[in-house]
Amino acid sequence: MDRLTIPAKFVLVMAFFAVPLAITSIQNIVTMQSSLSLAEKRRVGVELQRSAFDMVKRIEIVRDLSVFSRNAANQEINHLFEQNRAEALQMLMAFEARPEVRQNQLLKLSVSSLIGRLQTFRASSGSEGDMIGTIYGSAHSAVAKAYSLQQEIANEFDLSTDNDFVTEQLLGVLSDSLPKSYYEMGKARGFGVYFLETRLMNSSGIKMLEETYVELWQAHEQLENSFHLLITSQGGLTQLDQIDYSSLNSVLQTRQMLDDYLLLDVDLQAEWRDYYDSVTQQIGLLHAVHTQLLDFLSARYSERILQKRESLLHRSVSIGVLVLFTTYLFVGFYLSIRNSIGLLVNAANRVAEGDLEEKVAISAKDEMLDIAEMMDEMRQQLRDRELQLVAMTITDGLTRVCNRAFFNQELPARLEKSRRADLPVCLLLIDIDYFKKLNDSYGHQVGDDCLIMVAQAIKGQLLREEDSVSRYGGEEFAVILPATDSLGGLATAERILSAIRRLKLELVGGQVVTMTASIGVASSAAVEQCSDDRLVALADESLYKAKHDGRNRCIVYKK
Ligand code: GH3
Ligand code: MG
Ligand code: MG
Repeated sequence: MDRLTIPAKFVLVMAFFAVPLAITSIQNIVTMQSSLSLAEKRRVGVELQRSAFDMVKRIEIVRDLSVFSRNAANQEINHLFEQNRAEALQMLMAFEARPEVRQNQLLKLSVSSLIGRLQTFRASSGSEGDMIGTIYGSAHSAVAKAYSLQQEIANEFDLSTDNDFVTEQLLGVLSDSLPKSYYEMGKARGFGVYFLETRLMNSSGIKMLEETYVELWQAHEQLENSFHLLITSQGGLTQLDQIDYSSLNSVLQTRQMLDDYLLLDVDLQAEWRDYYDSVTQQIGLLHAVHTQLLDFLSARYSERILQKRESLLHRSVSIGVLVLFTTYLFVGFYLSIRNSIGLLVNAANRVAEGDLEEKVAISAKDEMLDIAEMMDEMRQQLRDRELQLVAMTITDGLTRVCNRAFFNQELPARLEKSRRADLPVCLLLIDIDYFKKLNDSYGHQVGDDCLIMVAQAIKGQLLREEDSVSRYGGEEFAVILPATDSLGGLATAERILSAIRRLKLELVGGQVVTMTASIGVASSAAVEQCSDDRLVALADESLYKAKHDGRNRCIVYKK
C-alpha cells in the first residue's frame, strides 16, 4: 500500500466499494426487471386467453348445432351453424395474425390445426340418441382443441407457473369447472334443439337427456365448489366481489329448461328456437362470469406491473443517488487531499528557494492543517535564524554597531537610492583623538570599553531609522545620513562630538577617563556624480583637516 500513489490508493478503495455495489445493484435491477417482464408477459397471456375464449364461445355453438335432422335440413339452424363457424374462423385468423402468436411456433401450429378442423367441419345427420351423442362427442373435439389452445397459452406465457394461490385457483376454475359446465350445457342445447326441431324422441334419446340432466347437476356442484374455494382463498381481494355469482345458477336453470321443454313435455311442443335462445342466454351468463374472471386476472397483473415498475424506479433512483453520493465523497475527499498536498509542496518549494516570509497556509481543517502548521513553524524558525545570521554578518563583534562589511554595502546602496530621489547623502567619518595614548595609558581593555561607549554614544545621536553607524576600522566610525545635506550632517556631527565629550569611564583606582573625537563631514551634493569612494575620500580629507586643526572638532568638506 505504501508504494502506491494517492490516486492509485483512491482508485483501489473506490474499486473495493464500487465493484460490489455495482454488481449487487445490477443484479438487483436485473432481477426486478425480469420479474417485471414476466408479469408483462403473463398479462399478454391473459389477453390472449380472452381472445381464445371468444373463439371458444363460437365453436361451442358450432358444436351444438352440428347434428341436423336427416329428414329436413333446417335453414335457420344451418344458417346459425355457418354463421358461427365463419365468425370462429375469422376470429382464429385474426388471432393467428397476432405478433405474439406468430412468434410462437407451438401456438401457431395449434391455431392452424384448429382452423383446418373448422374449415372441414361438417354437420352430420343423426336420429338415434346414441348417434347424436357420438356426433356431439366428435364435434366436441374442435372445442377441446380450443381449450387445449388456452392451456398452451397458459403454459407459453408462464401463467401456469405463477405460484400465486388466487391465480392458481382462478386458472383451475377457468380451465376445468367452467368448461365442464359449458360441455354439459352445450349437450343440453344441442340435443334439445335437435329433438325439438325433429319433434321426435325415442327411448335412447330420453335416456341420453336424462343422463345429461344428471350431469348438469354434477357440473353445477363442481362449479359451486370451485367458486367457493376461490372466494374463500381470495382474502382481501374485493374485486372478486363484483362478480355476479347468481350467474352460476345458469347450469341449474339449463337443467330446469331441459326438464320443462323436453323431459316433461313428451309431445315436444316448444319451438326449438325459444329453447335455443333461453339456453344460449344461460350459457351467456356463465360466459360473462368467465370474462369477468379473466378481466380480474388481467387487472391483477396490471397492478403487479405498476408496483414492480414503481419499485424498479425507486430502486434505480436510490442506487443512482448512492453511486453519485459515493463518487462525490470520493472525488471531494481526493481533491481536498490533492489540493492540500499541492499547497504544502508549493510552500516547501518557496522555503527551499529562500522565501521565508509567506505563511504556509491551507484551507482544509483536517490533519493536513497540523502538517501545514508544523511547516509554518519550521519556516518561522528558519526565518528567525536567517535574520540572526544576517544580523551577525553585519554587526561588529565588539561595539555591537554595524561593521565595515555593512558599511561597504550600505553606502553605495544609499547613494544609488538618493540619486534616484535627487537627495543628498551625508557621510561622517569619526576618529577618536589620541586613542593610542589612551590604550598605552590604561591598557587595551579600557580602550575596548571606551570604543563600546563611543559607538553607543554615536548611535544615540542618530534620529532617523535609516541613519546608520558602522565601525569603519580601529577607533574610527562612519555615519551614513541619507537625505541629509552638509548642514544637517554638521548638526549631527556637533551632537556626536558633545556626546563623546560627555562620556566618562571611571576606573577602579578612581581615575576618570574622558575622550574627544574629530569628525570629517562630506555631502554627496558637494561633487557631481559622487561615488562612494569619492564621498569617503572627501570625508577623510575633512577628517584630516580636523585633526590638523587641533582635533576635538568637525570640519565640513567644501569645494
Ligand atoms: P590621532 O589623534 O591622530 O587619531 O591619534 P591616535 O593615537 O588615535 O591615532 P593612531 O592611528 O596612531 O592610533 C590608533 C590606535 O587605536 C592604535 C591602536 O592601538 C588603537 N586601536 C585600534 N583598534 C583597537 C581596538 O580594537 N582596541 C583597542 N583597545 N585599541 C585599538
Ligand atoms: Mg585613527
Ligand atoms: Mg585616533
